[in-house]
Amino acid sequence: MKLILPATWVENLKRELRLAGSREIGGILVGEYLGNETFRLADISVQTIGGSQAHFARDLEHSTAFLKEFFARTGHDYNRFNYLGEWHSHPLFAAMPSGQDLATMREIVEDPNVGANFAVLLIVRLARRSTLELSATVFSPHSPPINAEVELEVAQQALNRSLLQRFIDLFR
Ligand SMILES: [Zn+2]
Repeated sequence: MKLILPATWVENLKRELRLAGSREIGGILVGEYLGNETFRLADISVQTIGGSQAHFARDLEHSTAFLKEFFARTGHDYNRFNYLGEWHSHPLFAAMPSGQDLATMREIVEDPNVGANFAVLLIVRLARRSTLELSATVFSPHSPPINAEVELEVAQQALNRSLLQRFIDLFR
C-alpha cells in the first residue's frame, strides 16, 4: 500500500508538533483512494487534548464528528473518500509503534463495529524542529502489520519528489 502525503499536510503537522512541544497529539486520517492500492491523505483531525508525554488517548466523539463532516463534504462517496486510520506523535520516542500502539490498532481493525478492512497508523516526530520523521504501518484483521510506502507530494512540480520516510523494518 502506498500513502501520498501532500506537502501542505507535512507543513501543518510540523506546525502542530511545534505547538504541542513534549505532549503527544494525534487524531484520525481520512484519505482519497486513487486506485492501485494508493491513497492520498485528504485531511487529518488534530486532537490537542488528552495526550501526555507517553500516551495518546483517542477521543471517540472528536473522531466521529470529524468523520461525519468529512463524509458530508465529500458527498458520502465512501469508495473514494473514507477513513484511513490513526495518527499521533511521539515527541520523546522514535517514530515507530509502541507495544501499546500495536495492541490498540489490532483492536480497531478487529472490531466488527468499526468494520474497517485495514487501518494505517501514522506516527510522527519532529526532529531538530524542522524535519518530520514518520512511520506508516498498515494493520489488517488477522494478519501481521506491514510498512506502507510513503511519498511526499510536492505541489505541481513533482520533479523533486523526496522521500521523507525513514523505513523502519520493524516486522521483518
Ligand atoms: Zn504511540
